[in-house]
Amino acid sequence: MVRMSVEVASSCIVDDLDDEQREAVLAARGPVCVLAGAGTGKTRTITRRIAHLVASGHVAPGQVLAVTFTSRAAGEMRARLRSLDDGVGTASVQAMTFHAAARRQLAYFWPRVVGNTGWELLDTKFAVVAQAANRAALQASTDDVRDLAGEIEWAKGSLISPEAYPAAVAKAGRDIPFDAAKVAAVYTGYETLKARRDGTALLDFDDLLLHTAAAIENDAAVAQEFRDRYRCFVVDEYQDVTPLQQRVLDAWLGERDDLTVVGDANQTIYSFTGATPQYLLDFSRRFPDAAVVRLERDYRSTPQVVSLANRVIAAARGRMAGSKLHLVGQRDPGPAPSFTEHPDEVAEAAAVAKKIKRLIESGTAASEIAVLYRINAQSEVYEEALTEAGIPFQVRGGEGFFSRQEIRQSLVALQRAVDRDVDGSLPEIVRAVLEPLGLTAEPPPGTKARERWEALTALAELVDEEVAQRPSLDLNALLAELRQRADARHPPVVQGVTLASLHAAKGLEWDAVFLVGVADGTLPISHALAHGPDSEPVEEERRLLYVGITRARMHLALSWALARAPGGRQSRKPSRFLNGVAPQASGDNSPNKPRRAKGVTPRCRVCNAALTAPAAVVLRRCEGCPSDIDEDLLAELKDWRLRMSKEMSVPAYVVFTDNTLIAIAETLPGDNAALVAIPGIGARKLEQYGADVLALVKGRSGPAGDIGHRQTS
Ligand code: ATP
Ligand code: MG
Repeated sequence: MVRMSVEVASSCIVDDLDDEQREAVLAARGPVCVLAGAGTGKTRTITRRIAHLVASGHVAPGQVLAVTFTSRAAGEMRARLRSLDDGVGTASVQAMTFHAAARRQLAYFWPRVVGNTGWELLDTKFAVVAQAANRAALQASTDDVRDLAGEIEWAKGSLISPEAYPAAVAKAGRDIPFDAAKVAAVYTGYETLKARRDGTALLDFDDLLLHTAAAIENDAAVAQEFRDRYRCFVVDEYQDVTPLQQRVLDAWLGERDDLTVVGDANQTIYSFTGATPQYLLDFSRRFPDAAVVRLERDYRSTPQVVSLANRVIAAARGRMAGSKLHLVGQRDPGPAPSFTEHPDEVAEAAAVAKKIKRLIESGTAASEIAVLYRINAQSEVYEEALTEAGIPFQVRGGEGFFSRQEIRQSLVALQRAVDRDVDGSLPEIVRAVLEPLGLTAEPPPGTKARERWEALTALAELVDEEVAQRPSLDLNALLAELRQRADARHPPVVQGVTLASLHAAKGLEWDAVFLVGVADGTLPISHALAHGPDSEPVEEERRLLYVGITRARMHLALSWALARAPGGRQSRKPSRFLNGVAPQASGDNSPNKPRRAKGVTPRCRVCNAALTAPAAVVLRRCEGCPSDIDEDLLAELKDWRLRMSKEMSVPAYVVFTDNTLIAIAETLPGDNAALVAIPGIGARKLEQYGADVLALVKGRSGPAGDIGHRQTS
């Protein structure tokens, strides 16, 4: 009987895989390496292999440790393991980042290896690095301190000591803000400052890994206990492993070889942190018995997207080029990728928002759409444009939803509720616990208070979602789930468009992807170009573009702007990586012309200055220019917006942003034409809300207008 059900489970696990994927999944216990391009099913293969090993009784779910490098990618693995569970138990497999895994293990083993001294995690090393730079008598700007912190991270990730740093940096040809001896002095000072705190050791993220490796390497009892607990290791995105992470992995493994790795050297995009595809490429040298499987069928993207990806990566040069793989698209044909040039970033963002709106209107879920950019600072203009277009979105970067003060307080308060054993349904209990922390029925005034409220609301909604998925969930299990997410820094998913950096998009996929800012100087980024056009940093930028392209299942739009701000000098060029792969990139080749034509700059209605900031464009005046606002009308508009947002169960800004309401209360539009002249109000909003808004405006200005009318007639 038992055997039967194992066989049934196993056949479900492999029957929708291709031959090569199946070979990797069913390979005997021991080392397995899957070397394959984007979208070929590496993550699918690895999660199926876990399910197979568990279902066939090789390991218990709790003995598997699956690791990767970004919290989102870890979240993706967990989601897939959960959906494969079906009674097999894969949902309880530990899947997390190297850092989260090390942090957990260290918390467990620390008292035994160190004794009474506690430790505290140094979330950001900026302040300590700044202090160390100061002591080394360096005049370091904020940017310099960041660079110094980056150097320390690279050195620690690469297992390079302060003493060895100058020679290593010369060999690696890194560009550093001060001479290498000075950077090494800051590195030494940083380590000293960290160690010198009374009673508690201060550990940065790399220390978590170092101490974990050391605890296992140096203490036979710790090693024994750890190795009894975990027997099977799986690494996704293995091309991104640093020497330090590899050392941890080696400590985990000991003399064993139950290790499955998957990766794509062409997606190496973390070299600047010390990551290297060498361990992936050398895997079969280290484990001569390893089963090595190559995949080349791309199941994710249309042949149109796959063809562009192939052309972009075919131009790669340097050490990774030898591992070039040619992807073969398996999906039905789809639309050709579009390449669009815009006069400035505001116009680019507005055009992207418009296309997104059209996709949503024609049935694509907002959560299946992403806007990807090179650096996080690019998100702002897209946040603004999407807000104006009334499209919900979520900025990814995973920067610590769970590190927010109110969320940490919430977890403490929920723990107290567990201890008190309170009654009620889970969503009710949670709302009651969060209320004193600021989860009021309506959003409070003030930016910080509102941010807090939004975070608490997101937490409450996350709980609703968990309960909907698992109705039997109790408070204790919920807390465990939240803690696991917190460890993995996995923010809750909202059903909105994703805004993310290319680095954060690794391993993920969406129906529609907008790659924005594909201009020389942004992608490749200027500091990479400073190393020379054929340098390895420029090659890494090319791989970033490849990663971005291969995130799209169907719709792919690449765009760039000639200037940063409206009216600015149009000196930019499309990315060099598009040469020869995109239709000769100048002018708009898409059917939708950019919304804001060249040279037509919006002007302030008070002082007539050209407006560039998105907020000012919506207000139609400089933010500093005097406002002729009707305060009572604004209050009425806000009340009305709150009613609407509740009725429609959407956040208030989806109805209208504050700036749009201010513009209405200032300009007192009398008819539809005057309403649509306000940025942020398009045809759909006019149809939905136009009558209400005009009635409110008329209600305020009405009596005066009527009297005036009577007098003149
Ligand atoms: P990346 O390099 O971007 O991480 P990957 O190699 O890990 O990509 P997956 O994310 O596992 O690829 O798979 C890409 C998509 O193709 C997923 O939606 C997956 O479900 C689908 N897929 C993979 N293999 C198959 C298959 N044999 N049949 C149908 N769909 C598949
Ligand atoms: Mg993957």
